Amino acid sequence: MERAINGMTQKELEGLFTDLGQPSFRASQLFHGLHEKGLKSPDEVTTLPKSLREALRTYPFRTVEEVRQLLSQDGSRKILYALEDGNTVETVYMPYPDRTTLCISSQVGCKMGCQFCASTKAAFVRNLQAEEMLSQVYVTEEITGDRIDRIVLMGIGEPLDNYDEVVRFLRLITDPRGKNLSARSITLSTCGLVPRIYDLVEEGIPLNLAISLHASSDEDRRRTMPIANRYSIREIIQACLAYFEKTGRRISLEYVLIEGENDRLQDLDALSRLFKGPMWHINLLPLNPIKEYKGKSSREERIYAFEDALHKRGIHASVRKKRGEDIDGACGQLRILYQGMGGPS
Ligand code: SAH
Repeated sequence: MERAINGMTQKELEGLFTDLGQPSFRASQLFHGLHEKGLKSPDEVTTLPKSLREALRTYPFRTVEEVRQLLSQDGSRKILYALEDGNTVETVYMPYPDRTTLCISSQVGCKMGCQFCASTKAAFVRNLQAEEMLSQVYVTEEITGDRIDRIVLMGIGEPLDNYDEVVRFLRLITDPRGKNLSARSITLSTCGLVPRIYDLVEEGIPLNLAISLHASSDEDRRRTMPIANRYSIREIIQACLAYFEKTGRRISLEYVLIEGENDRLQDLDALSRLFKGPMWHINLLPLNPIKEYKGKSSREERIYAFEDALHKRGIHASVRKKRGEDIDGACGQLRILYQGMGGPS
């Protein structure tokens, strides 16, 4: 796919403008208009001369378009966005009293095949471009009239399986001349692509890293997560240590509690052996139901008892509140085409 103007760094725009015989401050005006103001096309960047805006019309500009929205009782909204080629992805908008978080998708579909996750049930279609991830943020800001101040890469897709575009997205959204979001306000969740975690260490972007763990041994993990056949929990821990040393950011471990599968005493013991110390934080989540997976969520009392038992063993852990469950907008319930929402009309 040809690089769209709204997925270019300021440096790349300068290169393009030099080719067009334009001074570099014009590139800066365009970048500022598109990313700080979240404008929807170069045409809207009125600081640029009209002739230049016209010339820019011939260059690709890629955004997302709202197809449908579902509003949850808790104020969350699940938005189905259409991409230029007709594919769709979902984005979840979550307002809280003191902040607004947006959960964005990084791929159309997912190759990882985790059994309990809806996002992986349809065939993988393609990676999202950086500008398509950015547009989920900017268009949601426009639709809601709200400012997004936290982003979680926890929607459809495995972000580290779309490494280059995700890193480009991160560089653009944290650019001081653009939206200037702090890397600390961004969380990237991965099922544990170990070599890519090491690559991320090299980038040195101090974002929050979340690992979808969901089991306390490799053997158990292999039952629900195919990625466990490629990388062991040990290898993930080593990579996280390197990440922590470089960025100083605590690592979260996502752990959905499945009755009788991973909520046993032996799981508590294994987790507390593996994840002792201030660099780890375990997020316990109820399993959200999807029709393709038969496992049941642990009951609420069990989840809180599990949290308590981890605390007693000196482990940092908390139970994550669900958002958007009534609209299938909760973790692991996002699909590229959700029955409840229909397809693009
Ligand atoms: N592929 C990345 C990003 C997706 S994040 C990753 O695996 O981390 C979505 C989160 O929801 C992941 O932690 C995922 O494991 C979790 N999840 C998947 N299915 C779920 C379900 N049915 N209930 C609760 N959480 C689920």
